[in-house]
Formats: sequence, structure tokens, C-alpha cells
Amino acid sequence: MCFKSNSLLLNLNLKNHIRLKRVLEHSIYLAIIFILLPVFIYFELCIVLPAVVEEWSVPFLIHYCCASFLILNIIGNMIFGMFTDTSVRGRMSHFRNKESWGYCSECDFFRPPRAWHCDTCDLCILKRDHHCTFFACCIGHFNYRYFIMFTLDVFVAMLYAFYYNVQFLSQFISWNHGLIIIKFLFPLASFVIDFGPESVYVFLVLINFLVALFTGFLFFYHINNVLNGKITPENKNSLKSVHDKGWKCNLIEVLGTRWHLTWISPFIYSPLPGNGFEWDIDDKTD
Ligand SMILES: [Zn+2]
Ligand SMILES: [Zn+2]
Repeated sequence: MCFKSNSLLLNLNLKNHIRLKRVLEHSIYLAIIFILLPVFIYFELCIVLPAVVEEWSVPFLIHYCCASFLILNIIGNMIFGMFTDTSVRGRMSHFRNKESWGYCSECDFFRPPRAWHCDTCDLCILKRDHHCTFFACCIGHFNYRYFIMFTLDVFVAMLYAFYYNVQFLSQFISWNHGLIIIKFLFPLASFVIDFGPESVYVFLVLINFLVALFTGFLFFYHINNVLNGKITPENKNSLKSVHDKGWKCNLIEVLGTRWHLTWISPFIYSPLPGNGFEWDIDDKTD
């Protein structure tokens, strides 16, 4: 009896510890986003753009519109992704448990195929792909669209910005200066050695490059999964997924019936064909 209560207490402590660690991680990543985003917007629109394009000319206004479109979509997709509930909560009563449903010992109920328990959210998530630290929630059946579009928008914005940032730096930086190599290799050290706008610009362009690489990897990894009808936990085996219905149907399953319009705005209504509980041929495989 005593042993059982001790192990329960240990389990509870461990859960609280994991939760606290995740809350701290989420706070740090969200703080990075909320600091970096305005800094980048200011840097690109108020410093780089006027330096590479004539101010208030037609190209300048076109760039301003394109940048605003990307910024609004990045923020919009992030907010929609964070606040779209994709868990089984409040939805289970519409469905009768099936024999093939797996049992979740944490939630103490049977969960539908492709749903997995998340230790951080402490819930079973429908068609759970992964827990996203930047969104501070799980990515699953109902918010996968926003995550995919968020990574695409950030990737495009970073490539777009990088093209003009390189032009901007080439005008600005004294390339014959030996210090420039240190600034690129050790951007933080250059703040100490030679703090000034040049060091800040080099640092921001490096961040720009790294974020482009990271979001590019994320986007191509996830879109490849989507096109093949897979989610990350199902990607371990290289066999063709039993959920693969052809690239177009797979895409519609994630982006909705108006999939071709979802890049325009997260506000565009694009209903998903599935309910996240029932899957055509797959009950036996999960
Ligand atoms: Zn669960
Ligand atoms: Zn989660």
C-alpha cells in the first residue's frame, strides 16, 4: 500500500517536473518569437528596404504589400494553430468505442486510431503529429493546416528577406575589413569586440539564414509526409502508408476541400473531409 502511494507520488512529481520544464521551454521560445518578429519587421521594412529600393516608388510599395501579406499570414497561422483544439476533449461522446481503438492508460479511455497521448498537453490528440514547442501545443488533425502554412510562410519570408539582406550588407559592409570574418563566424563575440550597427545587421542576417534553413527543412519534411498520407509517428517505416489515397486526397485531408486557397489566409474556410476519429481502411493497423 505504502509502496503504491510512493510510486504514485513519484509519478506525480515526475509529471509536474516535465510540465514545468515544458512551460519554461514554451516561454523561452515564445519570447524569442515575440522579440525576433518585431525586430525583423523593423529591420527589413525600415532599414533594408529603403536602402535597396527607392523610397515610396512603385517597387517599394509592392515590396511593402508582399511583406505585409507574409507577416499577417505568419501571425495569423500561428494564432489559429495555437488556438484550434485538436484533442479528443468534448468530441468523444459522438462516437461509440470500437474494438480496434487503443486504450490510453493516462486518460483512462479508448482512443481512436491515429490519436496519441501527449504528456505535455496531458490529453489524447486526434491524428497527433508532434508537440510543437513554438506553438506551445500539439499539432494534429484540426490544426495541421496552420502549422504547414506557418512553416511555408516563414520559409518564403526568410528567403525573400535574405535576397535583399545580402544586397543591403554588400553596400554597407567594408568587405576588406578582416573583422568581418569574425562577425560572420562568431556574431555574439563581435558585439563585444566591435559593437555597432554593422555587428547587429550581420547577426540578424545570420539568424535570417538559420531560420530559413530550419523552416525549409520543417516544411519539406512535413509536406512530404502530408503528400504520402503519413504523420510523423507513422513515418518510421518506409512502407507505403495505408492512409495514402493519392497526393491530392492526402492534401485535402490536411488542408481541407478548399486546399488551393489556404495559402492566401488562415481565415479562408476550408472544411476537412474527415472527423479525425474514423479512418477508411486503417483501423487494424493502429
Ligand atoms: Zn490519453
Ligand atoms: Zn502536446
